[in-house]
Amino acid sequence: MELDLPEETLIIKDMVRKFVERELIPLEERLKDRKNSYDLPDRIKSDLENKVKNIGLWAMDAPKEIGGAGLNLLDHCVVIEEAFKATVGRCLWSSLFFPVLYKLGNDKQKEKYLNPSVNGFFHGAAAYSEPNAAGDLAGIQTSADQVKGGWIINGNKCWISHALTAKFFLVLTRVKGTKRHDGITWFIIDRETKGFSVGREQGMIHGQPTYELSLNECFVSNDQLLGKPNQGWVAGEEALFRGRLLVSARAIGIAQRCFDMMVKYSTERVTFDKPLSSRQAIQWMIADSATEIHASRLMLYHSAVKAQKKNKIHSELAMLKLFTSEMAGRVVDRAVQIHGAMGLSDETILERCYRDVRPMRIYEGSSEAMRSLVAKNIIKNV
Ligand SMILES: Cc1cc2nc3c(=O)[nH]c(=O)nc-3n(C[C@H](O)[C@H](O)[C@H](O)COP(=O)(O)OP(=O)(O)OC[C@H]3O[C@@H](n4cnc5c(N)ncnc54)[C@H](O)[C@@H]3O)c2cc1C
Repeated sequence: MELDLPEETLIIKDMVRKFVERELIPLEERLKDRKNSYDLPDRIKSDLENKVKNIGLWAMDAPKEIGGAGLNLLDHCVVIEEAFKATVGRCLWSSLFFPVLYKLGNDKQKEKYLNPSVNGFFHGAAAYSEPNAAGDLAGIQTSADQVKGGWIINGNKCWISHALTAKFFLVLTRVKGTKRHDGITWFIIDRETKGFSVGREQGMIHGQPTYELSLNECFVSNDQLLGKPNQGWVAGEEALFRGRLLVSARAIGIAQRCFDMMVKYSTERVTFDKPLSSRQAIQWMIADSATEIHASRLMLYHSAVKAQKKNKIHSELAMLKLFTSEMAGRVVDRAVQIHGAMGLSDETILERCYRDVRPMRIYEGSSEAMRSLVAKNIIKNV
C-alpha cells in the first residue's frame, strides 16, 4: 500500500496545522489558569467554533447532506491529530456526530436529534457504561420492557461524558429477559423524560467530569426506539471500532506536541556545563519517542485507509488503539522527565497532557481488552 498521504489530505493537514499554531497555541498562554483542556470560557469557545466553521471543518465526520464537512476517515484522523497538539483544540471538536444515530435512526429521528447536534444548536451524550458492566458491555443490565405504546426502562448508567449539558441521550439497554449480545437495544431519551435523571458528578483525572444517570420506570414511546429491538450490538460495535481510530489520532497529536517540547528543552537546558541533549540518556528518550510516534502514525494512516474501504480490520484497530494509547503515555512521561520540576508544574502544558493521555488506555476498549482481541483472533486461526 502507498503510505504517502494524498495531496488533498496534505492540504487539509497543513491548513489545520496553521490554524492550530495561529489561533489555538497562543491561547494556552493567555488562558493559563485553566485547570484542564476542556474549560474554555464560553465566549472564546464560540468565537473559535465560528472560525472552525469558516475553514469548513465543523462536524468533520458528518455527511455533507446533514450539515457536516463530510471528510473521509483518513482526513478526519489527520485533522484530529493536528488539533490535539493544542490543549485548546481538545475541546473544540467533540460529540457532534453520532454514528449509531446515523446508522439506526429513521428520518424523523435524524431531523429531530442529529441535524441540530451537527449544526451545533444542542448536543447529546452516549450512555452505555453501567456500574457492573462497562468494559464488558454485553453484560449491561438496564432493561427495556415492551408495554402498550412504548417501553419502560429501568437501570443505572455511569461515567457519562457531556451529561451535564446534553439535551438527549443515546441509551444502551437490553430487552427484558434476554442475555448477553442478543437483546441489546438503543433508545433516544430526552433529558426531560419522566423517570430519567442525571445524577452525581464523577470527577476525572483530565478534568472533564462524567456523570451517573438513573432510569426509574422511565416510559418512552415507540418513536424513541433506535433501529429494531435486539439489534443494537452491531451498530454499537461499529461506532466503537471507528472511535478507536480517532482516539489513536488524538494520542499521536498529544505525543507529537510533547515530543517537540522535549527536544527543544533538551537543547536549551544546561546541567553540569552541557545541554541535556548532549547526554546519551536523553538522546535515547528522544530516539525512542521519535521511533514510536513514527510507527504510530504509519499504523494510523494505514488503518484509516483500510477502514474507509470498508475492510474488516478489528484486530488492526485493536493493535492501533493499544499501541498508540500506550505510546502516548510513554512519550509524555519522557517529556515530563526531561523537563524535571518544570514538567510537573503548571508552568508548561505537560502536566495537563499527562492527565489527558492516561484515560486513553481505559476508554474505547482498554489495553487488556485490545490485547485479548488481538490474541483471540490469532489463536482461533491456528
Ligand atoms: C474519561 C472517561 C470518559 C468516559 N465516557 C463515557 C461515556 O461518555 N459514555 C459511556 O457509556 N462510558 C464512558 N466511559 C466509560 C468507559 O467506557 C469505561 O470506563 C471502560 O469501558 C472500562 O470499563 P470499566 O471502567 O468498568 O473497567 P472494567 O471493565 O471493570 O475493567 C477494569 C480493569 O480490568 C481489566 N479487565 C477487565 N476484564 C478483563 C479481562 N477479562 N481480562 C483482563 N483484564 C480485564 C480492564 O482492562 C481494566 O484495566 C468513560 C470513561 C472514562 C475514563
